[in-house]
Order: sequence, then C-alpha cells, then structure tokens
Amino acid sequence: MLPTRRLGPQLHSNKKNLHGFIKSKMGLDLKVRCGMASTTTVAQPTTTTTTTTTTQQDKVKRRLVFDNRTPSFQDFLMQQQLGSTGTATVDPSQSRPDQVPYLSTSSQLLGQGAKYFIEVYGCQMNVNDTEILNSIMLNSGYERTLNMEEANVVFLVTCAIRESAETRIWERLKYLRHYRTKLNSETPPVIGVLGCMAERLKTKILDGRLADVVCGPDGYRSIPHLISLASTEYQNGVANVMLSADETYTDIMPVRLDKNDVSGWISIMRGCNNMCSFCIVPFTRGIERSRPIDSIVNEMRYLSEQGVKEVTLLGQNVNSYRDTSESKYYVNQENSSGSGLSNDGFKTIYKAKDGGRRFTELLDKISLVDPNMRIRFTSPHPKNFPTELLHLIAERPNLCKSIHLPIQSGSNTVLERMRRGYTREAYLRLVEEMRRIIPNVWISSDFITGFCEETEQEHQDTVSLMKQVQYDMAFMFAYSMREKTHAHRRYQDNVEDSVKSRRLAEIIATFHETAATKNKSLVGTEQMVLIDSTTSKSKRGVATRLSGRTDGGHKMFILDQDDNDALSKVAKGDMIRAQVEKTTSASLTGRFISTV
Ligand code: SF4
Repeated sequence: MLPTRRLGPQLHSNKKNLHGFIKSKMGLDLKVRCGMASTTTVAQPTTTTTTTTTTQQDKVKRRLVFDNRTPSFQDFLMQQQLGSTGTATVDPSQSRPDQVPYLSTSSQLLGQGAKYFIEVYGCQMNVNDTEILNSIMLNSGYERTLNMEEANVVFLVTCAIRESAETRIWERLKYLRHYRTKLNSETPPVIGVLGCMAERLKTKILDGRLADVVCGPDGYRSIPHLISLASTEYQNGVANVMLSADETYTDIMPVRLDKNDVSGWISIMRGCNNMCSFCIVPFTRGIERSRPIDSIVNEMRYLSEQGVKEVTLLGQNVNSYRDTSESKYYVNQENSSGSGLSNDGFKTIYKAKDGGRRFTELLDKISLVDPNMRIRFTSPHPKNFPTELLHLIAERPNLCKSIHLPIQSGSNTVLERMRRGYTREAYLRLVEEMRRIIPNVWISSDFITGFCEETEQEHQDTVSLMKQVQYDMAFMFAYSMREKTHAHRRYQDNVEDSVKSRRLAEIIATFHETAATKNKSLVGTEQMVLIDSTTSKSKRGVATRLSGRTDGGHKMFILDQDDNDALSKVAKGDMIRAQVEKTTSASLTGRFISTV
C-alpha cells in the first residue's frame, strides 16, 4: 500500500515543543503526578522505570525501556488499552499514563502537523531506513522539515561500525544539547537517536540527557508513540531497543528523501547470521529475515512509475536472501533454488538452510519489471554466488555487470580468525568463474587492515591478492575493535595504530596503482552512462557538462562539446552512450556520442 500523507492542520507555532503541542491539541495536562517521596528508583521486572522527584511540585521524571528481556512494545500498548482490567505485564501504578487517548495502535494521528528533521549517518541501509521512517512519520501526522530550527523533533540515524562513526554522533549530540540550552525555551525539540549506535549502546545514550528517544533498527514503527511518551510522561527518556525475528517493514512503502534522485533503494532483507568475528552488525541488526518476493516486485513497479532509473537492492548479506513466506517453496525443496551457496570452498558458520525462494529467483522476477531500469545489489557475501546467479547476471542487460565481492583480507590465517568461511584460493576460484561467465564484469571489494594479530606477512598476502585480482573499486579501512564481537572476546587488538595507518596507506596505494592501469585500458571504449548531474564543471582546464555512472559503477564526466546540439538536450535520468578519452584510478572522462 502506498503511503498516504494525512497531515493534520497546522495549529501550532513551530517554536512550541511537542509536549506543549500535544497538550493543547488534546486539551489535557499529561504531566504525570504522583505522591512518591524524594528520589526513588523503582525496580521493574519487565520495564526499566526510573522515578525521580525533582521539585516540590512532585514533578516526576521517569524512564521507560523496551529491550529483548522485557515484554514487547505491543504488549505495553495493549496493557495501556486494557488498563487495570487487562492482564498487566507492566505495573500499572508506575507505567500507565493518565488517559492518553493517542497511545493506540490504530491509525490515529499523533503528530498533528508537528515537524521532524533527520540527519543520516553511515551506510545506504540507513538511508533506506530513513525513507521507511519518513513513511511512518508522515502517516502519523508529522511533517518533514529541512530546517532544524523549525523542528519539534530532531532525529540522528546512526552507525556503529567503527569507533570514529560513534565519536561523530557523540559530538553532534553535545552540539544539540548546547543548541537546546541556547534556545532557552521551556519547549525544546525532542532529540531521537536511531539506528545501530542506538541498538549497541541502548540507554547509555539517554544518560546525561543527550537524547529523549532511543530506538534500534527494528523498532521504527513505535517511534511516534515513543515521542509521545518522551514528551509527556517519561522525561528521562524512552528507549525501544528490541530486536525482532521477523520485522522487515514489508508493508511500509518508503517515502524517498530526494524525489528527483534517479536512483532508488529497496531493502530486501535485514540482519545477518554470519557472525564475522570483527563485525558488530549481527548485534545491532539481529538475525537474517527476508521480505516476500511479491512485495519487492510491487516496490520495483512503484519506483519505475516514479521515474527511478536505477535501483540498488539492499541487505546486510543481500545474496543470502531467502523468502520462506509461502510454505510450498519452503517445504517442497524441489521447488526451491537449493542452498544458494557458491560452488566450492565456501561454508557458513551456521547450518546452511535449504528451501525458500532464493536471490536468483528474486533477481529473475524483478529484472523483468522494467527492462530499462538498472539493478545493482549490496552488500553480498562471497559464499552466496551460485553458478545460476552468475549466468542470470550475464544474460539480463539491466542487471549491472558490477559485483561487490568483499574479501576483507588476502591471508588464510586472518580469514580464519575473521570467521569468513572461505580461503583465499576459494575466493580466487570464484573470481575466475565470474570473469569466465560474465566477461566484462567489474569487481569491487572491502578490506580491513590491521586486524587482531595481523603479521607483516599476512598484510603482504592482502597486497599480493589485490595485485592479482585488480579491483575496479575498493573500500579500505583500518580495523576498529567493537565490544561484544567474537574478536573482542577472543583476540588482542594488538597492531599499533601507526602500523595500521602505514598498512592502510599501502593497500590504498596498491589499489590506485592497479585501478589506474586497468582504467587506462578503457580509453577508446564505449560506455553506457546514466546521467545523474547536469552541472557544468571545470577541472585542470578540462570543461565537462554532465556526469553519471557507467554500468560498472564508475563516475564518468562528459566533456563540454559546444558543437554538439544533442548534448545540450540531455537531462538528468537520461541514458547516453559515451566514448572514454581520459581516466584516473577513480573516474573516467569522455565524449558524448548519443542518447539511448
Ligand atoms: S557478513 Fe557482513 S554484516 Fe554479516 S557479520 Fe560478516 S561483515 Fe558483518
């Protein structure tokens, strides 16, 4: 179902906060009052509720937390509706707000025109989650603003993959605290921290009053309710950090952040079962679960009708996709696409699962929705490239011939410590098979340098593998240890920072060297370019008029050609043919030939 924008009338000043706004709309004073004496901490078996009397007027500041050790948010809402006659899972004397009619699971409007502002950090999955959040907020009667100063709610959608990503968010939260103090208002905006960092740190983010709402990636449906609770009763903050075994938001049609963007994103699965020893993702995003194929096909159709020209399918282990929504595909394995594993030398840390409709079947179906729409996917795992998937990519013109194949390290002993489930040799065999079946395939990868106990020889193994594969693109990072991971429990993060930096510089230099040589061989070739910018640029005396992406994902700049009338008619979203004239390790520059 498409999202309906059902906003309530704009009845409030934007300077007013949500608490004041809700009060005026509902005609209620929702501040909780109770007669508890001085500072008290109430231990709850099911929710964490801290009660602190702060003034002589008995104002109470409380905190409410939902995590996987407590009943769900839905249980809480149900209990709210049942009141004292229900089978209470939460102590009503502590947790039931005074009559709060908008705390219902119905489609009742909650925001009534209040405004929210979003800042997104981290990966593309966060961008797509933000589009889901957009849909939820708009359907709850909020309006999005691009100006933080007029926002009643400020969201930070966060990343936890590296320490530096979290440091950035802490800095931003401190700035927002300062910003709220400077407003000197009784009604400052509500601050919400969402995403992986919220899931990882849970209530730690509520300490120090840096945020009012904390919500992990599986709790976004509850956000309008969490805001209501934080704005009224739970002034020490509200958190929903429950991980779900089945939440995929499949019934929510995301509302795109930039409607003019020629590219769109579809999350097809969430979570990861791989437990690579360095990775925090399984702890912040939970276990693997996939959306039904039909809902993804519908979203493809919707994006095609919106004029989107390129779609990227998203998932933490995107090619491990397995739709088990229809039992006939799950139970009768003859109707399924097998285990979905790559040929030889790849294994899973968990028991490989048979049955279900696999990634190859999904790609087959969605590539037929609009043959002019390009399709990419990220981020895959090398273990999930069965031969039939490679053949399908080779056959369908709109499946881009660019494959991300994250290896992380070229050393077998490091791969073993990382628990990646393959060897260097198995990976190289897969690369060879890919290049045989898809002759012009572009291959990119991820590398982590300086992983626990990495020796100089192990590092050199990575350098030699990079030279052997000759990647078209690479994402390279120095290792950053994360708490809770297998590596944190088992290994020492004992490679000196200076050594990590030097090794990182070496692999970056190796990549640029091989990519520059490889790209030079493209001079004179013809590329199909999807134009995503019509901004004229001039760099080192070279004037370009347009830019876009090739099938392989390279940025390509199109030279300004005054003599070519057709060039001036090219618009964003057009597909053109262009001939490569110059290259660097990161981009191509060429001459317009024609539109397609
Ligand atoms: S496959 Fe990717 S997301 Fe999953 S644990 Fe490994 S690195 Fe993390």
